[in-house]
Formats: sequence, structure tokens, C-alpha cells
Amino acid sequence: SSNSIAFLGLGNMGGPMAANLVRAGFNVQAFDPVEVALEQARKNGCAIAASAREAVQGADVVVTMLPNGDAVKSLFLGVHGLLEQLPPEVLLIDCSTIAANDARQVIAAAGQKGIAAIDAPVSGGTAAAAAGTLSFMCGGDAEAIARARPVLEAMGANIFHAGPAGAGQVAKTCNNMLLAIQMIGTAEALQLGVDNGLDPAVLSEIMRSSSGGNWTLEKYNPYPGVMEGVPASNGYLGGFAVALMLKDLGLAMDTAAGSASSTPLGALARNLYQLHGGTEAAKRLDFSSIQKMFSRPVGK
Ligand code: NAD
Repeated sequence: SSNSIAFLGLGNMGGPMAANLVRAGFNVQAFDPVEVALEQARKNGCAIAASAREAVQGADVVVTMLPNGDAVKSLFLGVHGLLEQLPPEVLLIDCSTIAANDARQVIAAAGQKGIAAIDAPVSGGTAAAAAGTLSFMCGGDAEAIARARPVLEAMGANIFHAGPAGAGQVAKTCNNMLLAIQMIGTAEALQLGVDNGLDPAVLSEIMRSSSGGNWTLEKYNPYPGVMEGVPASNGYLGGFAVALMLKDLGLAMDTAAGSASSTPLGALARNLYQLHGGTEAAKRLDFSSIQKMFSRPVGK
């Protein structure tokens, strides 16, 4: 059975994901070093633990939703890592977005202890995390993914098996590189229209229904005031931070270097986001704020 779940990392994504596991009837033992995150998890019905080590006691499944690969590796690996403590019956599900090589390293180390593990990064953002409609892109063997399925179904709407260990991270990297390219292209096209007298809402509707249509025009319009309830209409607050998109574009560039792939538009996207996120304040804004780069009154 997998009734008892340890959930580690209760941030913008992990907090609402753990709450959905509670709602689905799982016993959730949660840990995050940030006190307010832990307190919110308790309000959401999680049993809170004083450490990661305590949270995983007696757990059938361990779910992690951490910022990056270093956080995941330092949690599981090494003499003080959780792999030294966990029994072979446990299943590990890492939902963080990290390098495919880091995911493969952790999954292989788990395998040496007889522990099944998968990478299962997500797409959909904080709204989908709250609604329980995330997409999971899984890497690992089919048996481990089948064991993970009831847990993932409590947090998401789509569960994809991308391939062996690390394949979920590769899929996530490809997806987010394409998302960045589409977001920049959409912002550029909208500004060109506005500069030539068009109403951005009218142009958005034309392109959304025409051959330029894409997810950013459907769900995440970057032009302020065109769409309700998106970060662009809320001062670019909340959503998916420029800093996290920069991390993901860095992973795309590392992945491309490793496979000698050509990713010229991904490289340009990374550079434009690097320029745009030049200050700490800019890095915290939602990634659709790249629109502001085009609306600067340069050159006229
Ligand atoms: P976040 O920074 O809000 O949350 C991460 C949490 O992990 C923090 O609360 C931190 O205190 C905690 N943490 C760090 N080390 C820990 C440890 N050893 N044990 C327990 N908790 C620990 O980040 P987020 O927005 O929730 O994103 C998490 C991951 O999901 C990232 O890899 C991100 O790239 C990815 N992601 C985010 C979004 C989004 O829209 N925010 C969408 C898809 C994927």
C-alpha cells in the first residue's frame, strides 16, 4: 500500500500539492525548513515533522518538490543522506525541476539500495498545483511509475511516461525552452502591432485564432490588461518567476551541450531572459514580464 506519504518541500508548488494528497485521503507527513510553509501545511491537514529524517519515518512514498538539483542531491545522497535511512520498500517521487543527470544520479543511487525512484517534474504552475490538474512528465521504469500513479493522480490530470530515468526532466527542459521562445515571440509580435496602432486585445484574439496561436495567447497573455487573472494584469506578480525560467533555460543549454544539439532559439531566449532579469527585483517577476523589454521607449 502507499497510504503514508512523506512530502518534503512545501513552497509555492509543494504546499498545494501536499494539500491535495490530504484531500485524497493519504496520511501526509510534511517537512520544510521554512516555518510559515510548515504552519500552512498543518492548517491543510498535514502532520508536520521537525526534520526530513522524521518526516520519512514509516512512509511508503517520499515526494520531493525542491528548488534545484543541489537541494535534491544533498537531501538523498552522502553519509547523512536519506538513502542511508530508507527501507527498500519505499518509493521516491521527485517532482522538482532539476538536471536530467542529477535525476539519474539520485535514481541510480536509490537503485543500489533496492529503492525504486522516478523523476516526475510538473507543468501547469501554481494554479494547476492548487486545482490538482498538473501534468507529470515521468522518467523511470514502468513498474515504479505504475506504483506512483495513484499518488500522482491525486495531484494531476495528465501523467506521461517520457522514458527511462531522467527522461521526465529532458521532456520538462524541452517544454520550458519552447515556452520561453513562444513567450518572447508573442511579446515581440504584440508590441509590433501596438507600435503600429493596433489594440493589443484585438491583435491577441486575431493571432490566437490564426496560425500564430499558442499557449501564451490562450492562457497567459503577456500584455497588461488583455486577459484577466494572469500575472500581466497584476503587475507581473506571482506566477512563474524569471529566476526559475532562467534556471530552466540553463538546464536546456547544459542538456544541448551534452548531446551536441543546436538550440539557437533557446540560446537567444536564455540571453534575452538574462538581460531582462538583470536585477533581483526583475528576477522575482513573472516570466511574461519580458513584454516590458519590448515596450521600452528606445529609439522611438
Ligand atoms: P519554492 O522555492 O516556492 O519552494 C521550494 C521549497 O523547498 C521551499 O519552501 C524550501 O524551503 C524547501 N526546501 C529546500 N530544501 C529543503 C529540504 N531539504 N527539505 C524540505 N524542504 C526544503 O519553489 P516552487 O515554485 O514551489 O518550485 C519547486 C520546483 O518546482 C522547482 O524546481 C521549480 O522549478 C518547479 N516548478 C515550479 C513551477 C511554478 O510555477 N512555480 C512550475 C513548474 C515547476
